[in-house]
Parts: sequence; C-alpha cells; structure tokens
Amino acid sequence: MKRSIYLDHAATTYMKKEVLDAMIPYFSQNYGNPSSVHSFGREARKAIDKAREQTAKVLNARFDEIFFTGGGTESDNWAIKGVALANQNKGKHIITSAIEHHAVLYTCEFLEKNGFEVTYLPVDSYGMVDPQDVEKAIRPDTILVSIMFANNEIGTIQPIKEIGAITKEKGVYFHTDAVQAVGHVDIDVNDMNIDLLSLSSHKFYGPKGVGALYVRKGTKLTPIFHGGAQERNRRAGTENIPGIIGLGKAIELAYENMEENNKHLIRLRDKLINGIMDRIDNVRLNGHPTLRLPGNVNMSFEYIEGESLLLSLDLKGIAASSGSACTSGSLDPSHVLLAIGLSHEIAHGSLRMTLGDENTDEDIDYVLEVLPQIVRRLREMSPLFIQEKGGCQYV
Ligand SMILES: *Cc1c(COP(=O)(O)O)cnc(C)c1O
Repeated sequence: MKRSIYLDHAATTYMKKEVLDAMIPYFSQNYGNPSSVHSFGREARKAIDKAREQTAKVLNARFDEIFFTGGGTESDNWAIKGVALANQNKGKHIITSAIEHHAVLYTCEFLEKNGFEVTYLPVDSYGMVDPQDVEKAIRPDTILVSIMFANNEIGTIQPIKEIGAITKEKGVYFHTDAVQAVGHVDIDVNDMNIDLLSLSSHKFYGPKGVGALYVRKGTKLTPIFHGGAQERNRRAGTENIPGIIGLGKAIELAYENMEENNKHLIRLRDKLINGIMDRIDNVRLNGHPTLRLPGNVNMSFEYIEGESLLLSLDLKGIAASSGSACTSGSLDPSHVLLAIGLSHEIAHGSLRMTLGDENTDEDIDYVLEVLPQIVRRLREMSPLFIQEKGGCQYV
C-alpha cells in the first residue's frame, strides 16, 4: 500500500469527526438566520452564542469580546486596518516584526502606501523579538504593536506577556496573530495584556474559511465590512453558522486535550529533529530549540534545493513544505528565514515538517528512513556539493 503521511499541519489540518458532526445539522434542518426573530433564527442565534462562549473561555475573554470572521487573514486585516483608521487622530505609527505572516505584513505595507508609518522590528537568530526593541520603537504617535504569537514557518514562540506589559504601560494597542498558537499554547488575554487577537479554525482541526478576532472591550476599532448589524454592528454579513459551530467545537476540543497532545507532538518532533541530526551532515535547525511550537520542525540542508526535496518526499508519500507554504511557486526565499540571518542559498535548502495529532512513531521512522536517502541522492547531483566536498560523499 502506498504510504501517505501528512506533515503540513501549519498549512492546514484535517477536520475532526466530532467537529463535522456538530456542524452537519446547521447545513440542513437548522438553517435559520440568527438575525431573524422567529424560532428558526433563535435556534441559530443560540448556536453561535455557544461557539462564542467556547471561544471566549479558552482565551479568558468576555463573551462580547469575540467576533467571528472569515478566517485568520480577515482577522489580521481587520485588527490592523481597524485600529489604524479609528486611531489616526492620535498618530499614524505602527510597529510589527519582520517575520509576520503576509496577512499582517502586506496589510502594513498597504497602510504605508496610505499615509501610515510602519517599523519592522528585527529578530534574533532564533526568530525572537526582543521586548526592549518594542519599547524603544514606541513613539508618542504609535497607535499599535502587532507581533505574532508563534511563527508559522519556524515555530518560534514570542515573549507575548513581556510585550503586552510594555504596550499596556505605554498606552498602545497590542494585536497578536495567534493563528499558529491557538490549540498549543495557554492564552490569557488579560494576563498577557492582549487587546486584539486573531485565530483561524482550520489550523486547529476545524473548518476552513472561519476565524475570530478577540477585541478587548473599549478598543477603538473601525469595521472593514459595512452592511447589516451582525456581530453587534461590527462585522456585517450573514454569519457562516456551520463554520462558527465547527470553530467552537474545535477550539473546545483543542484545549480539552492540549497537554496530552502537546506531549505527543513534542516527543515526535524531537525524535524527528534528533534523528535527522544523527543521520545527515550539514544540516541546521531553524527556530528556537525549546521555545517553539510542539509540532514544528524546520531544517536547512546545505547544497540542496528545498523544492527538489519536497517533490522527492511527495513521491514517497510524505507531504511537507519548503521555506514557506505561501511563497512556494515563487523563487524568493522565505522572508522569515532571511530575517533570522540565513543566506539565500541556505534558505533555499529548507524544509518544514509540521506534525499533527494523527502522526505516529511509524510515520517518523519512515521519514527517517527515506529522507537521508533523498538528501544523499540530491547532494550527489549538486555541483556545489561536489565542488566543496571533492567528490561524492555520503550525508
Ligand atoms: C494560516 C495563517 C494565517 C491565515 O489564516 P487563514 O485562515 O488561512 O486566512 C495567518 N497567520 C498565520 C500565522 C497563519 O499561520
């Protein structure tokens, strides 16, 4: 039987059976519009309110601080553009980091073209933002700091609580893209002084195309969708009821079993990292060795192209990703790998494998059997490798 091993959970996850089961009635018999006053509408209203409750609970937020959206990208766009528009009388300066997801980076670039000023903070070689850099970058006209909770490529988890303490003291709004962190990290928006937080259901075994934005009560935020009075007048458009129900169920499940799941992921992750280090030379781990997402492995293999590695792995039934899922197809190396100081050449030889709760020891054993063979074959064909190593060598 052909093997099929999915190691791309940072791109998306499968949806859990319990999540699908919770959603199904809302596609057919419970099809009411929550804005309607009749019993059909009230049924739908009750269901989204339950999902709001489930979401608020895991973040230690209030029920009325959760707003459902069309996913992580919309949440990021809304948080950043919404704060920018609502607070431009105070100032037009925003601080973010060089390693954000494009949903944040390109939103900031859009604002720069429209009269705002953005500071892109550097990161260290592990991909860590220094909270002191945040503090130093804050000016009287700064309105927002947006720093991701955990990075989607290299898995590094940022010092969010330290940054939150600084933004609170300075009176600047703090947004975090927590799309990769939700379901793997304990998040308390009060303890961490987070004012806005983005999350996306399909990254934690829920449906695609639905997410949420946490907005601290009192935050000045302009809507970006205009129309009906949904989401307490802040996000117009008839709600994606089945999606929202699925998000609520998925986030509840993710936190119910988080410790156990994380333990499983960390064990497999470290087995994979150490196994690769033992079997292959001229390889480096990208991201922080311990302050990283439980399922994230990102490594650079010298003398080879990540894309060739990906294709060879795919032929063996292993689904992974290179530098960045979002830039594959283009020849630019990942902005994250460049920001942690990798050369273009090394960045091009990078592979991301992100584990999920259905992965097993057998999956890892199979990767550890197949990957060294592929790397050896690709290096034997690499002019750079032959030149530097003086002929065909083993990895
Ligand atoms: C996946 C992802 C997004 C985008 O979320 P979508 O729901 O796919 O729009 C944003 N930020 C990070 C860190 C992500 O991993």
